[in-house]
Amino acid sequence: MTEKVETIAALRARVAAWRKAEQSVGLVPTMGALHRGHMSLLATARAKTKRTVVSVFVNPTQFGPGEDYEKYARQIEKDQALLEENGADILFAPSVGEMYPEGFAVSIDPGPMAKILEGAFRPTHFAGVALVVTKLFQAVLPDAAFFGEKDYQQLLIIQRLVRDLNMPLEIVPVPIVREEDGLALSSRNAYLSAQERKTAPLLSATLVALAKSLREGRDPATALAEAKQQLEAAGFLPDYLEWRDAQTLYPARDFSHPTRLLVAAKLGTTRLIDNWGV
Ligand code: AMP
Repeated sequence: MTEKVETIAALRARVAAWRKAEQSVGLVPTMGALHRGHMSLLATARAKTKRTVVSVFVNPTQFGPGEDYEKYARQIEKDQALLEENGADILFAPSVGEMYPEGFAVSIDPGPMAKILEGAFRPTHFAGVALVVTKLFQAVLPDAAFFGEKDYQQLLIIQRLVRDLNMPLEIVPVPIVREEDGLALSSRNAYLSAQERKTAPLLSATLVALAKSLREGRDPATALAEAKQQLEAAGFLPDYLEWRDAQTLYPARDFSHPTRLLVAAKLGTTRLIDNWGV
């Protein structure tokens, strides 16, 4: 049974009972419109911790002006059915007022990594993510929390947040779940028109081809510029396409450390992100 819980007090009471029974607790934070990517996080959580909480909260503080906060899909009943099918113990679905009561004033600055790549295009995004994730950690006090590599920069920022603020939990990364044609699953894929959906897999295909040519020793600047042009020619409007150190996100130059390709591009009105280990 997946129980829907809407207040922090009720959530704490449930988790306290688990703790008393010496059961470990895993948290999977999401914004809902759940898909197989989220279910992969849940499966990983269930393999690692005895009890699992999946939060569904479309967090207003991580959306910038003009972004898709209002139109973001909200389908809590469908989400609950999927969580039931996949064996989550609790669906935590707080209201905005429960998370940000009148007079809420505290903010979190996640540091310099929040200013580059995604942060350059969404300047307040990672502060909002860090705030809501911290609040969720405080509400649940989980042993482990599970995050997708789909949001690669977010994962690194949260690892850093936990380390720098001595938060006593483990952050577990989960690999990207993709459609058969390579498109990374995302709640935002639902915005794509039929025509755009056909074009969308080119984003991951570009990363795969680029990783191969970098490995073969092609000049990175030329390879990246060509790949960007190919995306543009197919109708994408890239915000960035970068080859970075997989830990620091500083520009990569060689293969002495693990590296990652990261991309964000608009296709019509939909903004897609993806990344690939080189
Ligand atoms: P979201 O609901 O989009 O905010 O995502 C909630 C969590 O699910 C984040 O940790 C995401 O990185 C993760 N996630 C979203 N899509 C995927 C995917 N295709 N594969 C793996 N994890 C994902």
